[in-house]
Order: sequence, then C-alpha cells, then structure tokens
Amino acid sequence: MPANKPANQSAVSVLGLGMMGTALAAAFLGAGHPVTVWNRSPAKTGPLIAQGALPADTAADAVAASPLVVVCLLTNDNFEELLATLTEDVAGRTLVNLTNGTPAQARELAAWAAEHGAQYIDGGIMAVPQMIAGPHAYVLYSGDEQAYETHRPTLAALGATRWTGTDPGLAALQDLALLAGMYGMFTGVLQAFALVRTENIPATEFSELLVPWISAMLSGAPELAKAIDSGQHLTDVSSLAVNQAAFPNFLTTFRDQGISGELFEPIQALLDRAVDQGHAADGLSRLADLLTVRS
Ligand code: NDP
Repeated sequence: MPANKPANQSAVSVLGLGMMGTALAAAFLGAGHPVTVWNRSPAKTGPLIAQGALPADTAADAVAASPLVVVCLLTNDNFEELLATLTEDVAGRTLVNLTNGTPAQARELAAWAAEHGAQYIDGGIMAVPQMIAGPHAYVLYSGDEQAYETHRPTLAALGATRWTGTDPGLAALQDLALLAGMYGMFTGVLQAFALVRTENIPATEFSELLVPWISAMLSGAPELAKAIDSGQHLTDVSSLAVNQAAFPNFLTTFRDQGISGELFEPIQALLDRAVDQGHAADGLSRLADLLTVRS
C-alpha cells in the first residue's frame, strides 16, 4: 500500500485498462484501495502493477477479487460479450459500469445483473482521463441506490459523485445530454475556424474573439431553460423570424467561401419548420419542442 494512505480501504477491481480505465485504477490506488486489474490485452496492466495493483489472469478472477467491480470498456457491446463469460461469477458483486452507452443498454444490463444476483450501477464519466481524481472531475451514477451508498466512499476517489436516480438509464441519459451540449458547441467552433481559414485568418488568432463570444452567449442558456420549462417561448430578444431571415447568409457564405454547410443545413430546416408552424415570434427555445418526436 502506498505510504501516507489510510489503511483498510475497501478492495476494488477494474476491468478494462484503456486510457480511461487506467486512470480510474490509478485513482483508486492513489486513494489507498487494494486494486485488482484485468484487461483483454494483458500488457496494459504493467504500469498499474508498478503502482501496486494486483493483476488478474482472467476477468472472472478480477470479479472474484473484490466486492466492487468497476468496468470501463470501449462499448457496452464489449461489456455484454464479457458478461456472457461471467454468468457464474457476478453474484453478490456490485458492478459499476462506466462504459459510455445508452439508457436502454443501462436498463438491459441492470436487468441482466439482477437475474444473476449482482447489484448494478451505471455511470457517466464527465472528465477526460487526465482530469480523473482532480477537482473538476465528476461521475453521474444511477441504478441500485443502496449499492451506490455502500460504495460511494470508494467511488469518490475518481472525482465528485452525482446521483441521478434509481432508473439505471438516467446517468447515461444525462451524460449524453451533457455531451450533446459539448458536441454542439464544438461543431460551431469547428465551422467558425473553417470559415475564417478561407481568408487565411489563423484559428489561434480567431479563437481570441470566439471564446469570449461563446462564453457570453452561453450565459443565456438559463433563460432558454426557463422558457423550455414554462412553455413560454415568446421573446423580445431574438425571434425565430429574425433567425430564419438571417440564416441563409450562413449557407450562402459557406458555399461562396468553399466550405461545407452540412452541419448547418439541418438548423435552417428546423427554423423553416418552426416559422411554417406559426412560431415566428417565439425565441430559439421553441426549437426544443420541435425536436420532440415522441409525446
Ligand atoms: P480505449 O480505447 O483507450 O480503451 C478501450 C478499452 O476497451 C480497452 O481496455 C480495450 O481492451 C477494451 N476493449 C475493447 N473491446 C473489447 C472487447 N471486445 N472485449 C474486452 N475489452 C475490450 O478507450 P477509453 O479508455 O478512452 O474509453 C473507455 C470508455 O470510457 C469508453 O466508453 C469511452 O466513451 C468512455 N469515456 C472516455 C473518455 C476519454 O476521454 N477517454 C471520457 C469519458 C468517457 P484492449 O486494451 O485489449 O484493446
């Protein structure tokens, strides 16, 4: 056990030692937990063994080694494949699945775990590997609340813990919602850089304008949220009619400057649909309603 760490920390096994799984295992080790590690390609256990982790020859051995089993594979299909080899081994264990996936997958995995006598917690990691165990990392959790409360002190080694509910799909849902916001932002950032580059304006120079602009615009998100929650979409800030009228300027300029408009064309279509349906005086918040295809 590393020096200066509290004794008697509970044991944890980590399955999957890619970039993220390695960071998770290192964080548990750093917090003084006995850690058993397993990876499909055994070579990746080396650096963690050097830090004090115990290698398991098989995934079943890793599951047997600790009451808490943290899984971080590339996809949930990979996890399902692995679980098919562990049907006799998981009873009595708490499986914390931090693999990125869908709410439906999380619910299926929780049902599978229940059938096999295991507790299941799904999780969404809101950090990159370098942030794990740092002040800005947090992980969303959902599923078996009792198991979560039991293992929360151990899971806290990874970053802040945020409980989202007993429906196992809720962590994945909120994880994907947060990532949707992120991808939306980066999509716009990439389009902006592609556009200014057509006139030889360096992206690094333009980012000095772009970053404060996006930050200022983002401060309007809580107002959008209020409108969405209340259903009161009328605005005196920027109506859909004004946005719809201006939007062809983007698509025309992208074409004129020789860059693709493929990321923005769906936004024009959504604005057109909103105005066609009589929402010209509403703000952008109305578009969230139009995105709802199931009631
Ligand atoms: P890596 O590609 O670095 O690692 C993937 C891991 O999955 C490896 O351990 C790999 O094993 C294992 N794996 C892949 N296929 C199989 C299989 N069929 N059977 C068993 N094991 C398999 O990815 P990351 O570690 O970066 O990401 C892991 C998860 O964490 C993903 O779901 C990702 O979305 C999520 N995540 C990642 C973040 C990041 O910034 N990296 C941020 C937040 C979440 P092997 O070494 O043998 O190939």
